[in-house]
Amino acid sequence: MIPLLEQYPALSSVLGYTPLAGLPTPVQPMARLTQELDAHGLYIKRDDLSGRPYGGNKARKLEFLLGTALQEKRKAVMTFGGAGSNHALATAVYARQCGLASINMLTPQPNARSVRRNLLLSDWAGAELHHFETWDAVCRGVKREMFRHRESDGRFPLVIPSGGSSPVGIVGFVNAGLELNAQITAGLLPEPDALYVATGTMGTVVGLTLGLAAAGLRTQVVAISVTSPDFNTRDKARNLFQSTNALLRQADPSFPDLDFPEERFELLYNYIGPMYGLYTEASVEAVRRVNAAEGIRLEGVYTGKAFAALLDHLRAGRFKNKNILFWNTYNTWDFSAEIAGRDYHALPAPFHRYFEEEVQPLDR
Ligand SMILES: *Cc1c(COP(=O)(O)O)cnc(C)c1O
Repeated sequence: MIPLLEQYPALSSVLGYTPLAGLPTPVQPMARLTQELDAHGLYIKRDDLSGRPYGGNKARKLEFLLGTALQEKRKAVMTFGGAGSNHALATAVYARQCGLASINMLTPQPNARSVRRNLLLSDWAGAELHHFETWDAVCRGVKREMFRHRESDGRFPLVIPSGGSSPVGIVGFVNAGLELNAQITAGLLPEPDALYVATGTMGTVVGLTLGLAAAGLRTQVVAISVTSPDFNTRDKARNLFQSTNALLRQADPSFPDLDFPEERFELLYNYIGPMYGLYTEASVEAVRRVNAAEGIRLEGVYTGKAFAALLDHLRAGRFKNKNILFWNTYNTWDFSAEIAGRDYHALPAPFHRYFEEEVQPLDR
């Protein structure tokens, strides 16, 4: 039983939930890096090892999102992202485990080897992949596909927003905050003074912030944005915090009424680089460093940028003598066996270019 539903059992009768993520995920010290960086205590939360065959942060959101789809007796879900979206892939993988179809509406993004792998695994998972050049085209596509997939009883696919960051999806990360608190109570790590996490659609960091507040933890949350402030703002974080808190209180009035912790929430934009989806020198260096010291694989688009911020702050003497937790949001299960021998020609033609064109320079 996950801590959120254990502590607030009334939620179970309202929210749809289906276990997918293999929780709790481990938390462990990064001993070598702590020593190399002359830090006090560096820890890592291994959400990369959540459910199989595709871990990472999205599995937690999907426990509630797909739980809702099942509760509402939907047959399919529709979601959105870049061509190599980790979220769209995770949705495809777990939808299939739930017996649901996944309709993935994808838009262009900078090429990378991970884009290729994700497309092949999405195909393995049986997702229906659609490519659109623009958001206008996506909107027309949504209308078309929703009607095409309407059931004879009138049910439409459940729409899951980009990144799964609706209040329902965010509930999965409220649980993650309580899960961390239980690991602190169990003595697996001290209460972190700071928590570093990459943010794209903000669901992960908002849910964690709400969960930490519900648990009474006073951890400083440092969110490193990987997308432009057009998508990703403090106001959006505050709004999602409040709407998720309202959803939980509606489902179980004993869930606390919490204020957005303005002074304990930081949002940084200076690690994005040129644009979403492009690696930076700093992110590549952070990936290399963590892999060399700890044998843990980050990537250049999200976790490398977040860890680059952590490295900079440590070098600048920030959080000296403090305990820092890095929340690892990227899948590290090896799924090469699942995609071995799969031919990209089986994908819809607009995706072939990711296999025929070169990957971005920093990924070569
Ligand atoms: C989606 C994703 C994030 C960002 O999570 P949000 O909830 O969208 O902010 C971070 N890291 C990785 C690897 C992701 O795939």
